[in-house]
Amino acid sequence: MARKKLLTKSKYLVGLQCSKYLWVMLNEPDRIPKPDVSTQHRFDQGHLVGEFAKKRFPGGIDISTDDFTDNLRHTEKLLKKRKPLFEAGFMIDNIFSRVDVLKPVNKEEWDIVEVKSSTGVKDVNIRDVSFQRYCCEKYGLNIRNSILMYINNGYIRQSEIDPEDLLATTDITVQVDEATNGIQKRIENMSREVVSGKCPSVTIGEHCNSPYVCPLKEECWGFLPENNVFEMYGNKKKAFELFEKGIFAFKDIPDDFILNGKQKIQKDCDITGKPHIDEKAIRQFLNTLRYPLYYLDFETFSGAIPPFDGTRPYQQIPFQFSLHVVDEDNAASRHHSFLADGTNDPRHEFIDSLKKVLGNCGSIVVYNMSFEKGVLRALANIFPEYNEWVENLNDRIIDLLAPFRSFHYYHPRQKGSASIKNVLPVLTGKGYEGLNISDGMNASLTFLDIISNSFPEGEIGKIRKDLKKYCALDTEGMVWIVDKLKKLTFY
Ligand code: SF4
Repeated sequence: MARKKLLTKSKYLVGLQCSKYLWVMLNEPDRIPKPDVSTQHRFDQGHLVGEFAKKRFPGGIDISTDDFTDNLRHTEKLLKKRKPLFEAGFMIDNIFSRVDVLKPVNKEEWDIVEVKSSTGVKDVNIRDVSFQRYCCEKYGLNIRNSILMYINNGYIRQSEIDPEDLLATTDITVQVDEATNGIQKRIENMSREVVSGKCPSVTIGEHCNSPYVCPLKEECWGFLPENNVFEMYGNKKKAFELFEKGIFAFKDIPDDFILNGKQKIQKDCDITGKPHIDEKAIRQFLNTLRYPLYYLDFETFSGAIPPFDGTRPYQQIPFQFSLHVVDEDNAASRHHSFLADGTNDPRHEFIDSLKKVLGNCGSIVVYNMSFEKGVLRALANIFPEYNEWVENLNDRIIDLLAPFRSFHYYHPRQKGSASIKNVLPVLTGKGYEGLNISDGMNASLTFLDIISNSFPEGEIGKIRKDLKKYCALDTEGMVWIVDKLKKLTFY
């Protein structure tokens, strides 16, 4: 008989998402790509929040050693002390779980406290704690309540971080009890499946994206043709409906299948291989532009722990902008930029520098204006002296995303996306390849690394250059896009 494999709580959650994912994780882990930078950032945020959570339990003992055997040994010994334990580990049969905080209550009971960097309770958290509870009870502990501790997004930092206010709690005992029903059976099934010599065959589905995007997606979804139904703009349910009928390619969607206007354009473009151009609507958009044109883009960073006084968890903190100015039709652009040095709160310098280069008239062209408007509003709130100026800017902001989101222009190579990363290459033939920093997430994580002095002294200059290059391409790219739209419509 095959030897049982150890099932941890994270593996149990993987098993709930997909039996194939779990099998690969336990049998052929090399097939799983390393976490991307944003997933790694989410993990790092979790660790950071965990450190603040510990401060809520004075006298607590940390057992968060990487050594599995040490962790089990220390847990066994320290349970007798009846103190809050951080990362206590329990193994029974073939299941193992650590508990973020195990808090002694009454004479012999314990509460489980699970700490998350999210801002509310999710189903996956309930399932996570149900495994911990099951493991603890099987080990012989009396568990009273299960608590979820997470980020209070209404918290505003005032001087030092206050863990009492930063972290909210919700009692999830009832939901955890419900989720524990049938857990033994589920664990048995998973344990049996993972020792099978054959990887289970699982059809792709909505479970591939929930609760987290599966890292094996590239492998499992790789059989889909180019311009497949999952690139459909908007409603993904329709895509799964088609997939279940065996229709994978956009061009194979039957004529009687109901598509909305944008999806019909997508299908027509896929069949002809040519772009859709609504000249009248594009001209109307171009008519709204007033010279001088200010092409503007912000880069921001955010995190669970508010970095400065007056900031909230996950607030977007602007640290960089790029501005290309075109004074009149056909004139060459002028470039201005700002990149904070990373030594302190960049917000005042940011807005002050922006005010100096953003003239009093002319359109401000951005890509996805809700983002830029939101950042400006937050800056005006903290620096009221800029309030009136920001109010006036709002009327000048034009969203270059609009003609693409409305499908006034659509090219099949956009693959259902109106993002500038997809629009720029198909429209102008220029793109982000060859840049060391090529997306906003990468830019913000790079800046966070500058703040935390993670780069060797000699590299900082080059990294800052990379950041400037990336942000400048976003705004210069917008200049090129507008030029191209003019040419296409003989404007
Ligand atoms: S991509 Fe989907 S089917 Fe493939 S392993 Fe992941 S969850 Fe399972």
